[in-house]
Amino acid sequence: MNTCQMCERPDEIGGLLCVGCTKATVVRLESLPALHRGLSPFLQPAGGVGAGRSGKGGPAPLPVNEDILDLRGPGGLVGAAERWLDDVRRGRGHAAITPAGGIEVRLQAAVAGLLANMGWIALSWPSAGYFAKDIRDLVNSVRSIIAPVPAVAVGQRVGNCPAIVPPAGTLCGAVLRLAPGEKALRCQWCGTVYPPYVWPQLKVWIDEDTKARRVA
Ligand SMILES: [Zn+2]
Ligand SMILES: [Zn+2]
Repeated sequence: MNTCQMCERPDEIGGLLCVGCTKATVVRLESLPALHRGLSPFLQPAGGVGAGRSGKGGPAPLPVNEDILDLRGPGGLVGAAERWLDDVRRGRGHAAITPAGGIEVRLQAAVAGLLANMGWIALSWPSAGYFAKDIRDLVNSVRSIIAPVPAVAVGQRVGNCPAIVPPAGTLCGAVLRLAPGEKALRCQWCGTVYPPYVWPQLKVWIDEDTKARRVA
């Protein structure tokens, strides 16, 4: 029987990561694109475009947070995911892939590549523990920036769903409420799920939509 490289508990299957740590790593990998998007509202300096600053002073715009720029840039989340995928592919004797497209597309591709190899990673990759811990640390560092998550009470009306619904590309606009026993907001109309770490971004979208509706 092996010991899990992450939680150090014995693993009945004899892999390098136990079932629980494998699942947790999958969830963390899947959350990376949303976390990446969730960082963007923190990049806008306070009092920027549209805030109607009068020139009478008021609070100075906050400097752009360098940590967030680093995490969103080519060396940040996407760089980490691509480096790990490279290592995995080398470990399996597969040819390296040259990343293409914008950062969001590259992050999606690297995450998909890692998820596709998760079975092998958990069972046979000597670096599985380092990998799983690195992904955990990465997710925690992004969450610590995005936090504090806005407090949402069960049943509270959060705003209107900002999802764009195909095929017409119209705004969903259904009222979002936190259902009892749920951690994420789920739109009852279009089914879009908003986990807590995207709530800051969700608030930005809802505010923009509300403003646009008032103008119209
Ligand atoms: Zn474990
Ligand atoms: Zn919706």
